[in-house]
Amino acid sequence: MFVVMRTGASEAEVNGVKGLILAEGLTPFENAGEDRTVIAVVGEIGKRREQLRVRLEATAGVTAVTAISKAYKLVSREFHPENTVIRVLDTVVGDGSLSVMAGPCSVESRDQLFETVDHVSTHGATIIRGGAFKPRTSPYSFQGLGVEGLRYLAEARQRTGMPIITEVMDTSQVDIVAQYADILQIGTRNMQNFSLLLACGRIGKPVMLKRGFSGTIDEWLMAAEYIASAGNPNIIMCERGIRTFETATRNTLDLSAVPLLHHLTHLPVVVDPSHATGKRWLVKPLAIGGVAVGADGVMVEVHPRPEEALSDGEQSLTFDLFDQMMTAITAVHGHVRDLHGDLLASASAPAKAGG
Ligand code: PEP
Ligand code: MN
Repeated sequence: MFVVMRTGASEAEVNGVKGLILAEGLTPFENAGEDRTVIAVVGEIGKRREQLRVRLEATAGVTAVTAISKAYKLVSREFHPENTVIRVLDTVVGDGSLSVMAGPCSVESRDQLFETVDHVSTHGATIIRGGAFKPRTSPYSFQGLGVEGLRYLAEARQRTGMPIITEVMDTSQVDIVAQYADILQIGTRNMQNFSLLLACGRIGKPVMLKRGFSGTIDEWLMAAEYIASAGNPNIIMCERGIRTFETATRNTLDLSAVPLLHHLTHLPVVVDPSHATGKRWLVKPLAIGGVAVGADGVMVEVHPRPEEALSDGEQSLTFDLFDQMMTAITAVHGHVRDLHGDLLASASAPAKAGG
């Protein structure tokens, strides 16, 4: 449930509400909005619901106690009508600008990484990507350079001044990956690895949560809720294609997920047309599509010589193709920003009580 404080409620009143929630063994999460504060009550409320609602309603400073219409709370627009804006180093995600995460699928060597980042960082990328721990379908495929790869990524950050994002596959890797990375990526295969979600939720660095290739929008948002409930509100949602009956593409990019998520959640949404399509020539059109439907950014794989890539060469962009995509999505972004204003405004309208 949400406890809506009256406009101008004092700190003591807010603390009074939080104290009552804590005394019940539940956790209060506060969103101090522009005109009023809302406190979400998180935890297993069970049969206490009605009694707790009555007590909270009678507490000083409280205007209303409302039920939450969705199973997820902290990541919902109902709780947090304003967009979440995530700052990493000098880059901002979710503020209306276009984030471009680019780099190789796998970090293969220092030279390969540097060659790639030297290009993308000077041609429009805002965040460097690169896998050090790789989730591969076959145990015999290249598994990534591990910690050595993380070190090269850290050097790439030094070199470019840009934040780096890399995947963490397992709870045992969270601390080491967080030591090097600016943004932790949770891959599609781990969207419902709840212990990993919680471990990333306890880390003070932004997390990008990829959609499970069989994950529904609700399951994906519940997965994000795990991260938020563990104390980390800085989550980026990444639509990377889902598995459908179609086999002509690697996955099917669910473009409707972008406006849907913008409606349901305050978190930024990016699309990954590389893993969605599996084909480099399809990356630009789908990146255009993602930006056109309002994505806050794109993630793409780039390789200096894709034919030599140790993973995902077929979908990796050459430098030339990266530049062409950048020109296209920059133009599209300039056009659509204002067009999406209404959608976002209606999505941010405070929800009605009840439900
Ligand atoms: C990746 O981005 O490197 C990756 C493995 O993506 P996904 O989890 O979407 O397959
Ligand atoms: Mn890849």
